[in-house]
This record gives sequence, structure tokens and C-alpha cells, in this order.
Amino acid sequence: MADAIEPAGVKFNLEYAPALESTSIVKIDAEYGLFIGGKFVEPKSGETFATVSPSTEETLARISSASAADVDRAVKAARKAQTEIWGPMSGRDRAKYLFRIARQLQERAREFAVLETIDGGKPIRESRDVDVPLAAAHFFYHAGWADKLEYAFPDRRIAPKGVVGQIIPWNFPLLMLAWKVAPALATGNTVVLKPAETTSLTALLFAQLLQDIDLPPGVVNIVTGAGATGSALVEHKDVDKLAFTGSTSVGKQIQRSAAARGVPLTLELGGKAAHIVFEDAALDQAVEGVINGIYFNQGHVCCAGSRLLVQESIAESFVDRLKNRLATVRVGNPLDKNTDVGAINSAEQLGRITELVAAGVAEGAELYQPECSLPDRGYWFRPTIFTNVQQSHRIAREEIFGPVLSVLTFRTPEEAVAKANDTQYGLSAGIWTEKGSKILWMANELDAGVVWANTFNQFDAASPFGGYKESGFGREGGLQGLAPYVSLSSPKRGSR
Ligand code: NAD
Repeated sequence: MADAIEPAGVKFNLEYAPALESTSIVKIDAEYGLFIGGKFVEPKSGETFATVSPSTEETLARISSASAADVDRAVKAARKAQTEIWGPMSGRDRAKYLFRIARQLQERAREFAVLETIDGGKPIRESRDVDVPLAAAHFFYHAGWADKLEYAFPDRRIAPKGVVGQIIPWNFPLLMLAWKVAPALATGNTVVLKPAETTSLTALLFAQLLQDIDLPPGVVNIVTGAGATGSALVEHKDVDKLAFTGSTSVGKQIQRSAAARGVPLTLELGGKAAHIVFEDAALDQAVEGVINGIYFNQGHVCCAGSRLLVQESIAESFVDRLKNRLATVRVGNPLDKNTDVGAINSAEQLGRITELVAAGVAEGAELYQPECSLPDRGYWFRPTIFTNVQQSHRIAREEIFGPVLSVLTFRTPEEAVAKANDTQYGLSAGIWTEKGSKILWMANELDAGVVWANTFNQFDAASPFGGYKESGFGREGGLQGLAPYVSLSSPKRGSR
């Protein structure tokens, strides 16, 4: 690309100078307790584990590992707060707390964004422009509902579920927290939340924020730890509702446990989203959407566009455009504001991506990776395009959760729908075409909870998000996202 614009004899330097975000705004403690009953407390287990920066491999802090006894303590604190304070509180007063949380998230946005990037490895541009503003927006949106629930559910008696157990993954730590905590609090529930073990730090900073705004003790409790802590929360006998975001395999285990005890559950699980690009699409715009949808977040998004279905007539030229664009993508220090692709979240996740990419090569797909130098330390993966992919290949079927795109082709809209739907998942899809009628027809035919048209990965707190098939059930956001957090019954006779 550089060659095309350079006059003879002149060599442009097209490299950007580093633009590092300062980390001085963030204070990371050496060790963190569990947040129970409004205070940080030592875990009864006495156990801690290290949280590591994925871009440098340095240990950032030690995090407490909550045992079943700690989870029990948290559930008891949540029960007391629910029955004595938060449940009886008027919606208007609950709304004031939610507004305070939202405003504090905005005021401390840079601190949260920098910490998210240090702990999780995602580019500062994404934490700053996506994660934190959307988290604040979620609290603002739900603050608005807290005193208007009778309009959300007209002619019904509305009661909170009670104590809610919530478990979240590592890809959007603060945003997933907001998606879970905001609707639960707006509807009068109290919460025990378990963040992912590799990304607990923004949840713990959020706990400090709750102390600062004087949220009554026990309304939100945060228990850190790995799968065993999550399992203790799922199995706890005094939890009235469970909400889980994470992998399909763990979601299935939780579903079995909740079903056996009749505990209401919502699940947001994996995905294998397809971009469907027609020959009449605005191709440069589509290239940008595809690149943005899979590489700018390291592919660490459940709804990432990890498959590209491109109409056969334009397949070759479209893939050429993609490769050209990919060659300009910047991989590296996530704290650099120029960085497009940050670090892979953990050594374990890097291992999973590497294994699946090796399987793609072994099954006969053609691999393309741009030349780019990767940092010496940390967990990195070169952005990858696979062409010559068959529907049966593992890279076309399994969630890779890394910066890897599998390209397939189609001839007719019917074939595109059949291929897009040929997956266990049903979370999201993207359609790229100039024809509105094709968009409407495709959106009806696709088994996907969210369908974007001529754009990708757009979120709004008022818009419900969730999946079909093995991508889970229940919705988060919008009116539909409030419903799982309330029990509805017929109104008393004589009342409206
Ligand atoms: P994961 O299922 O391994 O872990 C998710 C959470 O569950 C973590 O907090 C983990 O500690 C906990 N956990 C692990 N084992 C458990 C058990 N037996 N009982 C209870 N809790 C347990 O998933 P992950 O690797 O952290 O996250 C990536 C997955 O999350 C991907 O599959 C991705 O698609 C999915 N995801 C989905 C959405 C969505 O909205 N659908 C959003 C983000 C991520």
C-alpha cells in the first residue's frame, strides 16, 4: 500500500509513534479480599491466587479464592440486605443508587479502562470507547426502569426473585458485570457475583466504588475464585435465580444443576457468528466490518464474526482486500492507543487457539497471517485468515475465541442461510448488502439472536441480547432483560 502513494525516490515512514496511556491513575493492591456485606474480608479458605497481566506476564496482585463457606457467607449477607433493605426500598430510591453508580463509572472511566486493559490484555481503545461507556450506559438505562416497573409489566403484581447468583467470563469483565448487576438491582434483587479468575480486578474496583457511593452493605457481594467457587454458588440452596455468561460446556453443567432444583436460570453462551457478504454490498465498508468484528477484540467476543460467507462472484477480490487491510492492523502493547489487536487473555486461551489453528492447517484449509512482529513476553496470536475452508472443518464449527477468520463461499441467498445456520450456536450474524428486502428476508431466516445489517458488534442497553440453540436462552438488556429478574402474578382483585 505504501508503494502506491510514494513518489519516486521518497520513502515515507508510515509507522505511528507510540502513544502510551499512562497507568499512574490506577492503584493495584498487592492482595484483595472478598467483598461481602459491604466490606473486604479475608477468605475463610485462606487461599489466594495470582492474577497476571497477559501482555507482560507479570503478576499484578493476589486474589482471594472463595470456598463454599465464603459463598455461603456472601449469600447470607445478600439475603439479609434483600429482606431488610433493598427489597422494601422504593423503586425511586433504588434508582438513585443506580444513577450514582452510573455517574461514578463515567467520572472514573479512565481508571476503569486502564485497569481493564492491564488485567485483560484488550486494547485501551476498546476498554475506553466500548467497555466502560457501555457499562455506565447500562446502569443509567436500568436506573430509569427502577421506579417504572409497573409500566414495564402492566397489570401484574411484580416481586423481585430475591438473591441472585451471577457468574461472568473474562472477555468483557466490567461490561458483563454491568449487564448482570444493573437489571438485578433495578428490580429489587440482591447479588452474589463471581468474576472470571483471570480478570477480577475491575470487579474489585467496582466494589470500592460501591463503598464510595454508600450502597447498603450486602446488596452486591463479589466472590472471586475459579470454577469451584462458581460451582459453590450454583449449588447453594438459598439462591433464588442464577445468571451465567460463559462457555457452552459449563453452561450445560449449570443448566443440569439448576433444572434438578427448579432454580430459574438465564444462559449467555458461545457463538460462531457468520458475516454474509453479497456481491452488491459496499465492499470497503464490509471489509472494515469484518476486520473490526473479529480482530479488534482478539476474537474474544461471543458474537465475534468468526466465519465469513462471501458470494462466490466476489470471493477472490474480497479476500484480497481483507488481506491488504489486515497487513495494516497493529498488534502489540494494549496500552498504546494505536493498537488494534491486544494480548490473548491467558496462556490457556492461547493454547486453545493454537491447537485449533493447527487443526485447520491439518484439515487442508489455507492459512494467511500478515507479517508483524510480536512482543517477546506475553500471550500473542497473529491475526489469521483461513481460506479453502469446508463446513466440516473444526475451524468452521468450533468457537475459537481468537483472532481467526474462516472464509467460506456461497452462490445464492438460500445457500448462505443454510451454511450460516449449520452450527450448534445461534448468537449473532451480519448481513452486508444494498438490498433492504434481502436484509429483511435473511434476518427472518437466520437462527441468530442478533442480526446486524451493514454494521457489526453494535450494542445498546435498550436492545435485548441473547442467543438461540446452544448459545443459551434469556435476554440481557431492554425490557426483555428485566423479565428474568422478577416474579409476576395476577393483580389482586379490585386493583388495576
Ligand atoms: P468459562 O465457561 O470457562 O467460564 C465462565 C465463568 O464460569 C468463569 O467465571 C468461570 O470461573 C466460571 N466457571 C467455570 N467452571 C464453572 C463451574 N463448573 N460452575 C460454575 N462456574 C464455573 O468461559 P470463559 O472461557 O471464561 O469465557 C469464554 C466463553 O464465554 C466463550 O464461550 C464465550 O462465547 C462466552 N461468552 C458468551 C457471551 C454471551 O453473551 N453469550 C458473552 C461473553 C462470553
